[in-house]
Amino acid sequence: MGRIVVRGGTVVSPSGRWRADVLIDDERIVAVTAPDAAVLPAAGEVAEVDATGCYVIPGGVDVHTHMQLPMGDLTSSDTFASGTAAAAWGGVTTIVDFASQQVGERVLDGLEARHAEAEGQCVIDYAFHQTIGGVDDDSLAAIPTLIEREGISSIKLFMAYPGTYYSDDGQILRAMQVAGEAGMLTMMHAENGIAIDVLRAQAMAAGDTDAVHHGLTRPPELEAEATHRAVQLAKVAGNVPLYIVHLSASQALEEVARARHAGRNVLAETCPQYLYLSLEDHLARPGVEGAAYICSTPLRSRHDHHQKDLWAGLRRDDLAVVATDHCPFCLVDGKDRISEGFTAVPNGIGGVEHRMELIYQGVVTGEITLERWVETCCTTPARVFGMHPRKGEIVPGADADIVVFDPRRTTTLGRAGKHHMAMDHSPWEGITVDGAIDTVISRGEVIVDANGLHGRPGRGRFLRRDRPAVLR
Ligand SMILES: [Zn+2]
Repeated sequence: MGRIVVRGGTVVSPSGRWRADVLIDDERIVAVTAPDAAVLPAAGEVAEVDATGCYVIPGGVDVHTHMQLPMGDLTSSDTFASGTAAAAWGGVTTIVDFASQQVGERVLDGLEARHAEAEGQCVIDYAFHQTIGGVDDDSLAAIPTLIEREGISSIKLFMAYPGTYYSDDGQILRAMQVAGEAGMLTMMHAENGIAIDVLRAQAMAAGDTDAVHHGLTRPPELEAEATHRAVQLAKVAGNVPLYIVHLSASQALEEVARARHAGRNVLAETCPQYLYLSLEDHLARPGVEGAAYICSTPLRSRHDHHQKDLWAGLRRDDLAVVATDHCPFCLVDGKDRISEGFTAVPNGIGGVEHRMELIYQGVVTGEITLERWVETCCTTPARVFGMHPRKGEIVPGADADIVVFDPRRTTTLGRAGKHHMAMDHSPWEGITVDGAIDTVISRGEVIVDANGLHGRPGRGRFLRRDRPAVLR
């Protein structure tokens, strides 16, 4: 691969922006420097990426994806190969996906199986969190091994989905204690699944089977209640670090903000769908059109200013991370199960390709700064999940994961425009945003440029992660 200079752009980090050129040697960044610095090779001496007029940002880090995730008899429609290719198109150079364990299964078996699925398939670098769906003596005993031997520094628990992934409060407490003791981060799907299942059964019995009832049976109160409970359990477990995934409701954000203001080790992520899409405009569409937007936590009502509050949360750092929860299903042989009612529809929407573009739009509209865009989409996720400074920032010594982003262009999302996710529809169809991904470099290799995608499946490497850097 040799040396590359990214010349003429404005480098952006969480702490500011400046005119600088970036010198890459093989897989690493070796200099970030003034354009006239002696360290830079003369024009024509090495390969160049022209970043004139562009922002030069760290490769995106999406810490919440579900490639080829089994869900009942279905599987999410992006494979590791197609999903990481779509991520690359979207300026993402690192994903963190999930290995899974359920009741009766061995944790390390689940991890091994997930490795087998991803191995040789990924276009970009990848890592895993470990889902623990069956907390018992055996799975608890395996948790320290994850960080000591496997390079996995985070577990995920569920307060939702009784019968599959759900943990009760005692199980959650025990898992938090063990993970905290090992120096690991506990991620939480915070919704009260026991109460939600009652509401779902009542809705179906009453004939309320449309997609909108998926949202109406998962009210914000039950997200806030679970978030509150998770925060308290993390405190009781020894003030262990807690990370709330896919936060969607203002009421849940208030719980996180209160904990953070009290100095607690609580972080939260939100996702583009909660910042842009709503129950009325999307989930309430008829038939399969609405079913396309079934995901959990659900899209919230536009009348309750959740979106406004979430953007404010990103500004104030009460929301530390934007991830996608990328979990696509097609309309055909997937979302079309709405014919059997909303409870039969696989949960999840696709977004790994569009997070960088959609959150940059928040810069354009004045919701967040350019620096905050980089911080929430690249630097903080890398730091929280033990990948910084190798990932998430343009600094000497870091992996050469760099995106050249052109703010002068526009991008139309969806099948009529830019669409590389393995989906027969796009939740983002017809949305046009400012800016465009121009060039994507992953460990010193140009994997996307004006000529298309060059990264091949299998070039991405599994990342062994360190302990989380939390409290921020
Ligand atoms: Zn998820």
